[in-house]
Amino acid sequence: MSKVKYFYDSETLSYKKIERRKGRKLGIILLSILSSFLAGFILLVIYLNIPQIETPQEKALKRELQNMKLQYGLLNKKMDQIQDVLANVEDRDNNIYRLYFEANPIPEEQRKAGFGGINRYKDLEGFDNSKLIIQTSKRMDILTKQLVVQSKSLDEIAELAKEKESLLAAIPAIQPVKNEDLKKIASGYGWRTDPFTKVKKFHYGMDFSAPRGTPVYATGDGRIKRADNRSTGYGNHIRIDHGYGYTSLYGHLYKYNVRPGQRVKRGDVIGFVGSTGRSEAPHLHYEIFKDDDRINPINFYYGNLSPEEFDQILEKAQQENQSLD
Ligand SMILES: [Zn+2]
Repeated sequence: MSKVKYFYDSETLSYKKIERRKGRKLGIILLSILSSFLAGFILLVIYLNIPQIETPQEKALKRELQNMKLQYGLLNKKMDQIQDVLANVEDRDNNIYRLYFEANPIPEEQRKAGFGGINRYKDLEGFDNSKLIIQTSKRMDILTKQLVVQSKSLDEIAELAKEKESLLAAIPAIQPVKNEDLKKIASGYGWRTDPFTKVKKFHYGMDFSAPRGTPVYATGDGRIKRADNRSTGYGNHIRIDHGYGYTSLYGHLYKYNVRPGQRVKRGDVIGFVGSTGRSEAPHLHYEIFKDDDRINPINFYYGNLSPEEFDQILEKAQQENQSLD
């Protein structure tokens, strides 16, 4: 309901209605339409030309994105550190551990191999920051694989160490009789004069001169293979199978206190010195077999000899004297 306005006509001395002119009204309408268009246009221009004006949500997202890039950068730095530590472990693994246990070093290509075949990173493609994410994921995958290779290698080393430990315990490494003054070595391995025929004959063991009843020790861990007197010349004798191709033999015993099949440890008393079989005087005839060949026992006393003591024993064992057989 439009208000009707009046004015006071001083000539007629009466109130008269104010008539609105139609044209003016139309003009006002047009003007207001135009001005609102203009205002809209100006706002549009401002909006298009000044993109810095962001909504709070856009601002928050942008900050989040920047933070993500920063965190990816820090992750990559941490991976650099891990890579350095791992490279050091790998180096020691290849050049110390694997070398020590006679395992082949793992080649670099095998350690640093990525993943071939299908593209594992397809889902990560097509984004503004795909490159950063794919590179980081790739590095992480390679690091993980390197760790798996390294871990397997250490498992193998642990297994080899265990084996080496039992190998070291098994291989003969001490003298079979107590020989603190080193005077018991009567004859060594090599050409010696036969005590009975007096002709040169190859002597396949070492003779330790000792009184009857002197304890004889197992020189390495193993299983008693034989303990009898059914082998020509050796009299009462014991053979210990040490595994790894090694067997030790103890001949001319007065008696023995082990049975075939029995397990013995290095240092266990297995019998006593005597002069049974083809023997000139009480002594222990000691042999070492490697894969059925009799080898020089002189190299198997390292367990309880200093280098100087070894030199003395070596000198005695090399004298081309008469063996006790
Ligand atoms: Zn002998």
